[in-house]
Formats: sequence, C-alpha cells, structure tokens
Amino acid sequence: DKDPRIHGIQTKIRVVPDFPKQGIMFQDITTLLLDPKAFKDTIDLFVERYKGKNISVVAGIEARGFIFGPPIALAIGAKFVPLRKPKKLPGKVISEEYILEYGRDCLEMHVGAVEAGERALVVDDLIATGGTLCAAMNLLERVGAEVVECACVIELPDLKGRERLNGKPLYVLVESH
Ligand code: AMP
Repeated sequence: DKDPRIHGIQTKIRVVPDFPKQGIMFQDITTLLLDPKAFKDTIDLFVERYKGKNISVVAGIEARGFIFGPPIALAIGAKFVPLRKPKKLPGKVISEEYILEYGRDCLEMHVGAVEAGERALVVDDLIATGGTLCAAMNLLERVGAEVVECACVIELPDLKGRERLNGKPLYVLVESH
C-alpha cells in the first residue's frame, strides 16, 4: 500500500550516529537534497496530498522546514510563512516557548502574516518528541488559524511525539527506529 517512491526517499536519508552529541541518531536530509529525483518525489508526495485542500498558508519551521515548505506552498498556491528562532524576524512577533530535553527553545511568527480563519499546513523535516510542532501549532491557533495537518519527512515513532499533537493529524513519509 506504500507509494513506491517512499523507498527511494528513505535510502537517501543519511543516519549519523552520535551527532550533534552522544546517543543521538541524526537524520541528515542534505543527502536527500543531493538527489534531484528523490527530492522531487518528496515534494510531489506532499503536493499530491494537499493540493485542492483549500490550504492558504504553509508554515515552515526553522531551519529545515524552510527547505521543504516553500516548494509545497508554491505548488498548492499557498503563501509561505517562516516560523523562526527568537530575534530573527524584524517585525512585531508572537512567541511560543517550549521545553527541550535540556533547557528551552522558542519559535516566533510575524503578527499579520496569518489571519483568523486561514487553513494552515505546518511543515518540518522531522518529528522527535513533538515539542517543536506543538509550539508551531500554538502560534497558528493563537491568531485564529485552523491547522489542517502537520507534515514531516521523517518520524521517530519511538519518541511518541504524535501523542503530543493534541489529536491533530500528522503525515510522515518515512519512519526511523
Ligand atoms: P522535537 O521538538 O523533539 O520533535 O524535535 C524536532 C526538531 O528537532 C526538528 O526541527 C528536527 O529538525 C530536530 N531533530 C530532533 N531530533 C533529530 C534527529 N534525530 N535528527 C535530525 N533532526 C532532529
């Protein structure tokens, strides 16, 4: 039942043990980007899923959501909104803090970029604990947007990040254990 393109995508993701620190299996999507066919298949699978769904905004999470989000947005006729780490956006912002394994992080969005009632898709490369996607969804919902779905290339299902998304649907292409 799996799309035949998925396997090709999976083989292009390089897994780097102990990066950036001991015990982390880093999922490196830069090797996927080096293969135009696998990169295009990745974008096409998302576009096929979301075109015609009346999505007006694709929100991409810094930094690797900035690679996958814009081509999806262009292909489905939606605007692209960057959700950035603190102090990067020059305009007025709203911020959402979230807890990491060690310490905390924060995402910001420009006020006025998304209006109440808009239908949003959140894009990142990977879901681990789900904290990042949860913060992203909170930003969009605080301005009255409806998050239709979250989309990632890779899920680490053992970390159960899906359970932190408050029932919001999550679509992923590849699982890594
Ligand atoms: P989380 O908030 O725990 O779901 O972490 C997801 C964010 O951290 C995403 O923006 C990922 O790019 C990054 N990340 C977490 N774990 C990994 C990993 N094993 N390999 C690559 N990126 C990761």
